[in-house]
Amino acid sequence: MRRLPRRSVASSPAGPSCPGTRLEACAPVCASPSPAMQLDPAVTPAWPPTDAAAAAEAGPSLTDLDSPRKDQHPEQPWRKGPEDFAFGKVLGEGSFAIVVLARDLATSKDYAIKILEKKQIIREKKAQYVTSERDVMSRLDHPFFVKLYFTFQDEEKLYFGLSYAKNGDLQRYVQKLGPLAEPCAQFYSAEIVSALEYLHGQEIIHRDLKPENILLNAEMHIQITDFGSAKILAPCSKQARANSFVGTAHYVSPELLMEQSACKSSDLWALGCVVYYLVAGLSPFEARNEYLIFQKIIKLAYYFPEQFFPKAKDLVGKLLVSDSTNRLGCEEMGSYAALKAHPFFENISWDDLHLQIPPQVPGSFLSTSEDENDFGNDDIFQSLASSSSSSHSFAAVQPRLLQRPTAPVEGYIHELEENSLELDLEFSEEEKKLLLQKQASGNPWHQFVNNHLILKMGPVDKRKGLFARRRQLLLTEGPHLYYVDPISKVLKGEIPWSAQLWAEAKNFKTFYVHTPNRTYHLIDPNGNAHKWCQKIQEVCQRRCQDHPQAAV
Ligand code: ATP
Ligand code: MG
Repeated sequence: MRRLPRRSVASSPAGPSCPGTRLEACAPVCASPSPAMQLDPAVTPAWPPTDAAAAAEAGPSLTDLDSPRKDQHPEQPWRKGPEDFAFGKVLGEGSFAIVVLARDLATSKDYAIKILEKKQIIREKKAQYVTSERDVMSRLDHPFFVKLYFTFQDEEKLYFGLSYAKNGDLQRYVQKLGPLAEPCAQFYSAEIVSALEYLHGQEIIHRDLKPENILLNAEMHIQITDFGSAKILAPCSKQARANSFVGTAHYVSPELLMEQSACKSSDLWALGCVVYYLVAGLSPFEARNEYLIFQKIIKLAYYFPEQFFPKAKDLVGKLLVSDSTNRLGCEEMGSYAALKAHPFFENISWDDLHLQIPPQVPGSFLSTSEDENDFGNDDIFQSLASSSSSSHSFAAVQPRLLQRPTAPVEGYIHELEENSLELDLEFSEEEKKLLLQKQASGNPWHQFVNNHLILKMGPVDKRKGLFARRRQLLLTEGPHLYYVDPISKVLKGEIPWSAQLWAEAKNFKTFYVHTPNRTYHLIDPNGNAHKWCQKIQEVCQRRCQDHPQAAV
């Protein structure tokens, strides 16, 4: 979930919103006892500075974000800065960060550097998550977690130097290869169990465990990441629960929905969902929107496909239990010893999992060893959008859009580049139904548009601050202008439509959508910005004709 996802945000469990969005935390992260830091102090300027840490307990203090590397002593040249790295391809992007491959020029060691824009964090009041993420990661020392090696900052950005997980994430793995074979599902489930045992032993709950946050390193072992929602339980108060509404819709536990509180056992619920996902290839609670997903979770309304491995079925059934004190692996149910003794794990030798060779992975999935082309992205801060599109291709799952027309209504559809189409707006009500039927059955972007007919769609780079991010822009009846992350396939938002909305082409590629409160800066990589403006204008005109009162 984008605190509830991958994450433009739902604030209430009752309110319908987009699938795959992340839940927002609504309470401050609790004070944490002083961690056994694994960061190298020589390369790790304190962020936030110590004097701000106390203030951060009461709530996020952002003053420390405003001054660049102010804690860096001028006579400590070994402190890292952006100039010490060769930046490479974009590895991924989250709601508040871009993650870029970077090679330390001094040591030639590769890192995944997570770059956060200070202004955006401040504007969106996310400082507490960033602080919390750093605090949690700096406590972890276990092979199944992404390691935080260093942090630094400059005038505009924060940088987290992370271990590089070069084989993507489990979600991508399953999307690419389909459900896992039984030995593979057993192995990865066991690694996750082992990681959770360690995490919970540290009195930390993750609260956003999902396949997308389970990365894979070069040896194909798991590297759990994304600790922005994690919670360190306060030991002195014997705190066992955290009262923030965070997570990702498909993986959120019933107790979070019902009582707005999470505990270690909430991660076991998520584990049940992840095991289900690995075996079935989709999550157990699928529905059109968050509201419906939540209803299913509360009612425990899920089913097992026929071919579901029987032992995995038994395990999932013991994890997806509404009462958090009845889940296999929780303290009341015999803790991790009981979970690890489940028959699904009977072949697992737990002590050296991280040293074992994971069950065979088809070679095509694995990255090639070393690709020098991964580096030399000097223009990284200007061209993140284009490098982002080069590291992920969504085209492979779009073939149906390129098929030849077969029905008469197809005459209205103009297929442009990959993932791009435009409709003539002359269709009748009857034809609209046919177009919509066709869209529902053949257009993978249909899921994001609330059953509205798509009038134009295509990739754009949406610029915000320094970063431009690739989005699939969907102009629909309504009218609506939705934009979707084409990599994670998550609806990121909507440009609010009003009578005052208008579009303006600046040149072949760049166009602006002006709204009363904001101008959206968009770039059409195919150089047809004017076509976007024309179509938006046409839709505006039609709306004025159909609803003259809406024009005022
Ligand atoms: P979210 O929207 O999930 O909160 P975020 O802003 O916290 O995102 P991350 O989830 O940490 O950002 O990272 C975004 C993406 O970058 C991940 O989904 C993953 O694809 C990639 N990524 C993150 N860390 C690493 C890493 N250590 N190695 C390789 N890729 C990574
Ligand atoms: Mg993430």
